[in-house]
Amino acid sequence: MGYRKFKADQLFTGNGFAPRGSVLVTDEKGLIEAIIPQEEAGSDIKELKGILSPGFINCHCHLELSHLKGVVPPGTGMVPFLLAIMSQRNNHPHQIADAIAKAEAEMLSTGIVAVGDICNTDHTLSQKLKGGMFYRNFIEVSGFTGAAAGGRFQNAKALLEAFTPTGPSAMVPHAPYSVSHELFELVAEQSAGQIITMHNQESEAENEFFKSGNSEMRKLYEYIGVDLSFFSPPGSSSLQAVLPWLTRAASTILVHNVLTSQADIDSLVKKGLMNRTIFCLCPNANQYINGSLPPVELFLENNAEIVLGTDSLASNHQLSIYEEIKTILKGFPQLTLETALQWATINGARALGIEDRYGSFEKGKQPGLVQIYEETKPLKM
Ligand SMILES: [Zn+2]
Repeated sequence: MGYRKFKADQLFTGNGFAPRGSVLVTDEKGLIEAIIPQEEAGSDIKELKGILSPGFINCHCHLELSHLKGVVPPGTGMVPFLLAIMSQRNNHPHQIADAIAKAEAEMLSTGIVAVGDICNTDHTLSQKLKGGMFYRNFIEVSGFTGAAAGGRFQNAKALLEAFTPTGPSAMVPHAPYSVSHELFELVAEQSAGQIITMHNQESEAENEFFKSGNSEMRKLYEYIGVDLSFFSPPGSSSLQAVLPWLTRAASTILVHNVLTSQADIDSLVKKGLMNRTIFCLCPNANQYINGSLPPVELFLENNAEIVLGTDSLASNHQLSIYEEIKTILKGFPQLTLETALQWATINGARALGIEDRYGSFEKGKQPGLVQIYEETKPLKM
């Protein structure tokens, strides 16, 4: 078996930058052998410009929405965005499969090797069965009236079975404002002991709906014909209102977290959930929809586990984790590239439960190799 040796201006291992001059040794298929000093590496070392990193992990995507690229313009705000997506997601059915294939190719070309992907339909099934990249599927349910819970749950169960051959899959709630207590209970039971995810506090409207009930969110229920007379606002944030249904999961990847507060984190700690909660940031989608960014300092101060996601092409100009890193570094200049790269690699792999293969250059892993220089691109083995 032949070895391949790589040296770059900087070698990022997944956990941090290796000492200058370090050489990464792999086998011919990219299986990691060792990181050694150049003096011990001998000849035939491939020299690369820029940073060499393990492949990126995209912890939040909706591959099935790829055909909606550019359909909703930036800056609409959350509720108009959701209304536009709901009314237009089925407009161009003939483009769906094509857009999905292209979006996967785009992710691979920007160095993404594994994806946590939301599924409301079976549209991505045939692409995923081709086995081009790793997916953990999150079969998403929604339905804010209790009467609909049984039917929604059964539909999701069928979808869950369909996706299971393509990778680990679990049923997950869409968001606090779109899932009834009855449906939350069914999902929590179904997904006990598994990795789940949930959209969380993407806009102030969501928190306000739970605090006072007076919120732009009402337009959403009007559109889908939900009578809200049964709903009495609990007076807490949206996240705090649904914590009882997050306790049975192995861990929960909360996505967006733009309006998450110290009080929310305190309540996660109090419930014993903080060490099983992962905060997935999708800064380019927040910029696209609301012109906002998540409170990065808050998560850092609380030693929170942070990962990155692209969200879908409906709310992003591209599917590139490195573009997410660039945006977050621009918004928070005190944040280091090293930390952001950890979020994109080892933290993401841990969040998706795939750190035995992905996320770092450690012996026996096959995490993919990405060169970050001018543009990011995967190294072909
Ligand atoms: Zn999303």
